[in-house]
Amino acid sequence: MNEADFIERVRARNPNEPEYLQAVEEVVASLWPFLQDEGRRYLDAGVLERLTEGDRAISFRVAWIDDQGEVQTNRGYRIQWCGVLGPYKGGLRFHPSVNFAISKFLAFEQTFKNALTTLPLGGAKGGADFDPKGKSDEEVMRFCQSFMTELSRYIGPDVDVPAGDIGVGGREIGYLFGQYRRMTGRFEGALTGKGVGWGGSEIRTEATGYGAIFFAQEMFAARDEGLEGKTVGISGAGNVAQYAAEKAIALGAKVVTMSDSSGFIHDPAGIDRDKLEWIKALKNDRRGRIREYAEQFDAEYHEGKKPWSVAMDLALPCATQNELGREDAEALVKNECAAIVEGANMPCTAAAAKLIRERGLLYAPGKAANAGGVATSGLEMTQNSQRMYWGRERVEDELHEIMRDIHRACCEHGKGEDGQIDYVRGANIAGFIRVADAMIAQGAI
Ligand code: GLU
Repeated sequence: MNEADFIERVRARNPNEPEYLQAVEEVVASLWPFLQDEGRRYLDAGVLERLTEGDRAISFRVAWIDDQGEVQTNRGYRIQWCGVLGPYKGGLRFHPSVNFAISKFLAFEQTFKNALTTLPLGGAKGGADFDPKGKSDEEVMRFCQSFMTELSRYIGPDVDVPAGDIGVGGREIGYLFGQYRRMTGRFEGALTGKGVGWGGSEIRTEATGYGAIFFAQEMFAARDEGLEGKTVGISGAGNVAQYAAEKAIALGAKVVTMSDSSGFIHDPAGIDRDKLEWIKALKNDRRGRIREYAEQFDAEYHEGKKPWSVAMDLALPCATQNELGREDAEALVKNECAAIVEGANMPCTAAAAKLIRERGLLYAPGKAANAGGVATSGLEMTQNSQRMYWGRERVEDELHEIMRDIHRACCEHGKGEDGQIDYVRGANIAGFIRVADAMIAQGAI
């Protein structure tokens, strides 16, 4: 079978799932030359066919009562993609866009990402088409309780360990964990991202954003450059964006943009530590809109726009999938942006990614650059199993080391004949080898 036939087969088996197909096409394009050559045995063992078919997909009804006493119905998902490396692991997303295609692409990506961390983690993802925006605390709690009543059948510390993602933060994990404990009668590490006072890990909240910056630091270091003085553009204003900004600022970079689904703010003077604390309170406590920042600090606000037309050395898309299109990539190239580091999962469209790679910008895919979140979840699982608590410094050091190792793995498998690093190829091959070796060792499963 050639590459085109293989992709056609995946397309035919998964109709109407564009995001899933996009993720598969990118991975297969990276792997194909390797599979024809030194990776032949993986092809012969049918690893690619198996890896494009998840272990199982669960979908369920989530009925709950809103504040008006009306019954609401949503759909919940858990896609357990590949369990050869450890218990299934991956976040839960609560957002109206969540459907099978999105859950599958995320579970597929998660499998490679988790493999890259080198921790014993399988790949999974899930969530619901529930929109937390505008909901009261009580509504969110009732939804989480109903969701977990069903999900609790399928998870557990040695089975599947969900965490947060878009729309699922500390508050939701708290409600989900409470209901898991009530359903099972067990206090155990069946979820990560828990509060530090009740089984959570230090640095887990910060980990995805910090990890992305550690990764960017390694990319620049390979060119004998640092982040100090660099202009950084960030999209999003949620968990990943906030802590990417925090670490970038701490390392002396100037963060000039952040955004939400309504528009972006541009602060040429730079978002400093105090302004960032204000954004955290705005987004995490008051659940307000980023436009309020512009009024508060006399910055620009661009309604309905994305930040990529602003001049920046480092672009960090930290919002959601396919948020950065070809025109955005053209603007970044035109403004001589040096690097794009994906804090979100698959934020660049296929066309944007193609252009970025053709033009030779440094480009870190999400499965490498944002792996710090799940890696620290892995460290939370270890602490839960040990019934131990590790201090902040220890966890941050471990996270930093893991990000350095992922960078090294990308270089090892992504170095071209011209000496340039293709991080997409490197990440895909390194993640694949780890999963594929375990798959072959465990037989035809
Ligand atoms: N949702 C995060 C991700 O995309 C974290 C998953 C986890 O910690 O299990 O990797």
